[in-house]
Amino acid sequence: MAAGFDLPGDRTEKEGEPVAGLRSALLPRPLLHLAAFVHVYGWRTATVAAALLSALVGASVAFLIFGIGATDVGKALQAALITGLVTGGLTALPVGVLLHIIDELSRARARLEEEIRRREIAERRMRELAGTDELTGLYNRRAFFDRAQELVAIARRYQQPIAILTVDIDHFKQVNDALGHAEGDRALQRLATILRQTLRATDVAARFGGDEFVVIMPQTRLDAALVVAERIRRAVAESPGPMPLGVSIGAAAASGAEADLDSLLARSDRALYAAKRLGRNRVCAEPPAADRPPEPS
Ligand code: GH3
Ligand code: MG
Repeated sequence: MAAGFDLPGDRTEKEGEPVAGLRSALLPRPLLHLAAFVHVYGWRTATVAAALLSALVGASVAFLIFGIGATDVGKALQAALITGLVTGGLTALPVGVLLHIIDELSRARARLEEEIRRREIAERRMRELAGTDELTGLYNRRAFFDRAQELVAIARRYQQPIAILTVDIDHFKQVNDALGHAEGDRALQRLATILRQTLRATDVAARFGGDEFVVIMPQTRLDAALVVAERIRRAVAESPGPMPLGVSIGAAAASGAEADLDSLLARSDRALYAAKRLGRNRVCAEPPAADRPPEPS
C-alpha cells in the first residue's frame, strides 16, 4: 500500500510500465524520464518531490546568502547548486527510508488482516461442519435434521412417543428496529439460554434460522410437551432484558410407527402459525393423528 503518498500514475509505474496516465499527459518528457529512472531505483514520487523541494529551498537560501550584495553571481550560483544538491540528497535518504518503513508496515498489516479473515472463515466453516449455530451455540438446521432423524427412528423402532416444538420470537423485527441488530442478537442468545436451561439433556434444541428455533423431545407425549412449551414461554416472558420478549410455540407429537419427522415439523409449524394468529405469546398444539377429527371430504 502506498500510505497515501502516491500521485496518480504510481501504480502504473510499479506494474512495470514506464509512466502513464495523467502524469504522462502533464509532465514534460525529461521529467518523465527522471521519474522512470528513479522508479528503477525504487524511489517513490513523494521521495523525489521532497528531495526536489528541499534542493530548491536550499539552493534559493544559498543564492540569497551568497548572492545579495555579491559581485560574483557565478560563485553565488555555484554555491546555490552545491547547497541544492546536498540538501536534496540529504532529504531523499531519510524520506525514502521513512516511506519504505511505512510501506513495509502497511504490507505487514494487510497480511495480518488477510490472515485473520482467512482464519475467521475457516473457523466458521469448522463450526458449520461441527453442526453448531455460531450465534447461539445450539445445533444448526443441518445438524438438527441428522439428530432428529435418529431420534425419530428410535421412536419408531421402540414404539415410543416423540414430540416437537417450533418456537418463534414475536415481533422480533421490532426488537431489531428499536434496539439495533446487536441487541437483537442478544435476544436470540437469551432465548437459546432459556432453552438450554429448560430442556432435558436428551432433548435436542436447534436454531432453525432467523428467530425460529425447534426442539425435539424423545419419549415425550403431547401433554408433557405442552408443559415444557409453557415453561419456555413463561421463562422468556419473565426474563430480564432491555425490552420484553415473547414467543409463540407450536407443538406436535406422534408415537411409534406414526412418527415421521417431516410430518411432525409440518404439524408443529401449523400450530405455531395458529398461535401467531390467535394473538402470539402462547402455545398451540396440533393433536396427534389419532385424536384429530377426520378431514371433511
Ligand atoms: P412474528 O411475530 O410474526 O414472528 O414477527 P417477526 O417480526 O418476528 O417476523 P419474522 O419472524 O418474520 O422476523 C424475523 C426477523 O428476524 C427478520 C430478520 O431481520 C431478523 N433476523 C433474522 N436473523 C437474525 C439474526 O441473526 N440476528 C438478528 N438480530 N436478527 C435476525
Ligand atoms: Mg418472529
